[in-house]
This record gives sequence, structure tokens and C-alpha cells, in this order.
Amino acid sequence: MTVPTITLNDGHTIPQLGFGVFLVDPQEAERIVSDALEVGYRHIDTAAIYKNEEGVGAAIAKSGIPRDELFITTKLWNDRHQKASAHAAIDESLDKLGLDHVDLYLTHWPTPAKDDYLEAWLALEEIKAAGKARSIGVSNHQVGHLEKLIAGSATVPAVNQIELHPAFAQRELRAFGAEHGIHIESWGPLGQGKYDLFGEQAVSAAAEAHGVTPAQVVIRWHLQNGLIVFPKSNSRERIAQNFDVFGFELSADEIASIDALDSGKRVGSHPDEVN
Ligand code: NAD
Repeated sequence: MTVPTITLNDGHTIPQLGFGVFLVDPQEAERIVSDALEVGYRHIDTAAIYKNEEGVGAAIAKSGIPRDELFITTKLWNDRHQKASAHAAIDESLDKLGLDHVDLYLTHWPTPAKDDYLEAWLALEEIKAAGKARSIGVSNHQVGHLEKLIAGSATVPAVNQIELHPAFAQRELRAFGAEHGIHIESWGPLGQGKYDLFGEQAVSAAAEAHGVTPAQVVIRWHLQNGLIVFPKSNSRERIAQNFDVFGFELSADEIASIDALDSGKRVGSHPDEVN
């Protein structure tokens, strides 16, 4: 199965479908990520705060997959935005992952109350220049935060990783990203199981029409909307199911009816409220 790639604004490519490991128990991360790699995923999304980078690294080492076939993302936590701390943080993450570089390094939240997200971004520019991250981007940044980074640095973020699922479709940030060359990564792509997305008529009808599961329909909706997506599951069966999404295509009408589920309701935290 070939996963499509997206070319980022710095010329590097990213597999459009990956595997996320938020809330994957550190003790189980090696087994679960090994399952994902065996199923065929080559893009893993972790973060320092998930405390499972060591397990991700162990699975990578055990897999024997050539480094250049993998795409590994990790994230800088909120209390490490100061330059010296950010440089130490990437070294710690690389050490845990057993890698000499990540493919993508993100600032995890802007924490605007502390007003240090531009400093964190300038540190990421240096980390990229040092070869420790191929591409750099941000997570949970809103339009005003992105404008400040673009005005205050020489680099437009390659991605913005934001909460995005049918009930919270983030049209403003997607439009801003399209205008500025910032690709959007959807976190919580299945709504984190926090509302009955799979019971929505638009989703269940498409699932029935294509003989697939509601989760597969929602992942397809992300892919056909040009979004980068990395659903998470601990179950090997679901890990495989979530990767098996290239044998069918949603029609324009099906996409439109899922688009219509946008109610502006978050399941996660508002970026202004995270410190
Ligand atoms: P998700 O929307 O991927 O939902 C995961 C939940 O959906 C699982 O716990 C499981 O219960 C259910 N699920 C998965 N596959 C299923 C299937 N086939 N059928 C039925 N149920 C299924 O939520 P997520 O894990 O929060 O988001 C994905 C990834 O995004 C994370 O693992 C992480 O890498 C990233 N993320 C980033 C941030 C951020 O602030 N940058 C925040 C949250 C998540």
C-alpha cells in the first residue's frame, strides 16, 4: 500500500497518513509502534510530553527499516521555550528516540500568556540549521500567533498541527495555511472518541455505501481534504483498519455532507488557555 506524500514548504515530503501515540503507555509503546510499523505505517507522531519517545525509538531500532524510509515527528514542551532549554530538549528527545535527527520538530502549544512562542520558534530555526530537524513547524497556533512568527523570523512553519475533525473543521486556520504554504495536520482526527461522530448519518451512510467502517470514512475525509492525519489506536486490528483506507474514495457529495457536520465544537483545550 503506497501512502501519498505531501511536499512541505521547505521541499521535504511527509507521508499523508501516519500513526499518533498520544496516551500510548510508555511501557506499551514499543509493542504498539512495532505493530504500526509492521502494518506499514512509516510516519510516527510523538512528543516529549507523551513520555513514550524511548518506546518509539526501541520499535524503530528493532524494525530494521532504513532511516530514510521513516518520518518521525516529536514536539517541544511548553516549559522549554527559552532558547537554551529548547536546545537541550531536542538533544534529550533525539537521545530517547535513538536518532540523530527528527523529520519534523514542532512547538507543542503557543502558551500565549507567557508570550515566548516566537523565542521557541527562533530556537527551532537554529535546531533545523544544526541538522537536528529536517523540517520545523508548530502545533495549536492560531492566526495571530502564526502572523507573529512569520513577521519575526525567516521561516514560515512547514505545518500547523491542530485539533481538527468533522465537528471542528478549522476553516479559518486551513484558509490561512493555504495562503501561506503551511500544511495542516489534524490532531484528534476521530474526535478522540469524545462525541458520536461514527453515529452521524453522513458518516454511517458513506461507510455502508463503501463497505468500510465509520473510522475509515473519517480518515478518508481528512485525506481527501488534503490534511495530514495520524489516528491513534492501541489495538492491532484498528491500527491495520485505519491504514487500510486507499481502496475506496468518497464522492464529492459524501465529502460535502461530512463537511456539513462542522459545529465549531472542540473536544480539546483552547490554545489560549494552555500554559
Ligand atoms: P483520535 O481522534 O485519533 O482518537 C483516538 C481514539 O479513537 C482511540 O483511543 C480509539 O478509542 C478510537 N479509535 C481509533 N481507531 C478506531 C477505529 N478504527 N474504530 C473505532 N475507534 C477507533 O485522537 P488522538 O490520539 O488524540 O489524535 C491522534 C494523534 O494526534 C495523537 O495520537 C497525537 O499524535 C496527536 N495529538 C496531538 C495533539 C497536540 O496538541 N498537538 C493533541 C492530541 C493529539
